[in-house]
Amino acid sequence: MRRKGTVDTISAVRPNPADQVADQHLEGDTITSVSEPRRIPRAEHPVSRSLLSSAALRTLYTLRDAGFEAYLVGGGVRDILAGITPKDFDIATNAHPEQIKPLFRSCRLIGRRFVICHVRFGGEVIELTTFRGAISDSMERDDTGRILSDNVYGTLETDAFRRDFTVNALYYDISDFAIVDYCGGLEDLDARVIRMIGDVESRYREDPVRMLRAVRIANKLRFELAADTAEPIARLAPLLREIPAARLFDEVLKILQNVDAVANYESLAHFGLFTELFPDTDRLCDREDMADDFVALALSNTAERIRNELPVSPAFLYAALLWPPVLQRYRQTLRSEGPSPAVVMQQAAEEVLARAIRRVAIPKRFSIPMREIWLMQPRFEQQSDSRARRLMSHPRFRAAYDFLLLRAEVGEAPQALAGWWTDAQTRLTADRLDDDAGVFDDAAPVGDDDAAPRKRRRRRRSRSRPDAQA
Ligand code: ATP
Ligand code: MG
Repeated sequence: MRRKGTVDTISAVRPNPADQVADQHLEGDTITSVSEPRRIPRAEHPVSRSLLSSAALRTLYTLRDAGFEAYLVGGGVRDILAGITPKDFDIATNAHPEQIKPLFRSCRLIGRRFVICHVRFGGEVIELTTFRGAISDSMERDDTGRILSDNVYGTLETDAFRRDFTVNALYYDISDFAIVDYCGGLEDLDARVIRMIGDVESRYREDPVRMLRAVRIANKLRFELAADTAEPIARLAPLLREIPAARLFDEVLKILQNVDAVANYESLAHFGLFTELFPDTDRLCDREDMADDFVALALSNTAERIRNELPVSPAFLYAALLWPPVLQRYRQTLRSEGPSPAVVMQQAAEEVLARAIRRVAIPKRFSIPMREIWLMQPRFEQQSDSRARRLMSHPRFRAAYDFLLLRAEVGEAPQALAGWWTDAQTRLTADRLDDDAGVFDDAAPVGDDDAAPRKRRRRRRSRSRPDAQA
């Protein structure tokens, strides 16, 4: 049975505190009423400057010293209030991009729909946005309601109601260190709820990526989705097809190259979002436990590596996500008297990739190594020392071998085959060391020869099979 875990949803529907005011914003270009925000003074909340990065602080102070309003907002405030370390810091200001640019040595303006400033301090990038204006009927949209042009600036208040979830619309004011809450985010943080601001369905229609964000943020914080925030997702999931494939590539990495990758995968499947991203894989994962197990194992492996601060590669992740259809196509077309397994695998890879990138773009720098990982899988079936030596010198051998181990772990490739390759590496490395010892006569003590391969093997196991040790 396919895992059908999901982020929980709360059954009690309480009125969306943002509804009343947000509706007023939705009425038209002019804001008729201004709501009073809740202000929590510094003494009554835990967000302290010592928890902010020096880059975030410098950005906030630079804007304030130039006479602008500046607030920390989004994940930075939300995560600190929820007791976790923020991943990055986002800042909102009333300064316009052309006023921001001269204030910072390294500032890049990006985006056409709505300009965002990336301010760089060393390795850290701060995302700086000008307050967004209220949603209005005059904004350009496509047939599904997605906003296409969005370049009207606004105030702190209009900005708050343009954010996605109430917990993401909390502002830390650098002028007096208070938290400003227009949308009931503090209450939802206490209740551990992710709640969409405003009319839920139209907010998803404006930007369907918010469905992915709802799942990711709920799983990250171990919060529940408010019932009205969860309800439309399954229905509106097909709107993801309207999102440019390049943006979905980034969003998939955020959600699946993530410590919560397995929970996110299960939630995506539950809400019918995974099928919009990887339709061919999803169909097979629904039908075959082995395909589902393989994807889940690859994701838990990735998550474990991130937890252990080991490098993770989008190529490996995407190779795993698309492996079920590649394998299916390979098996369907392989004939004993037909083209060689290598050729068949090459064709399967091309076909699957061509279909997949219509939904989620994969840059060439990743799709090339993905193909190499796939193409090496049939080559692993030839168990000869001379071929093994050649394969082991391939730059993608390490990743392809790790991939084989995952296949074996779910029973899709024979354990004996994976074992042969594990042994071959030890044996052939040892052989080479023996040969070298011959060259230098008996200079290399036997103990050293033994130690080298054992050490390599231990390291390999912990890199590629963290679950086995969990
Ligand atoms: P994290 O950075 O931890 O992944 P985050 O909530 O900070 O989470 P970002 O992508 O950094 O996510 O966005 C910063 C803030 O910008 C969000 O908290 C939210 O207020 C706003 N935001 C981002 N994406 C959207 C969106 N699609 N619609 C509305 N608001 C958004
Ligand atoms: Mg952020």
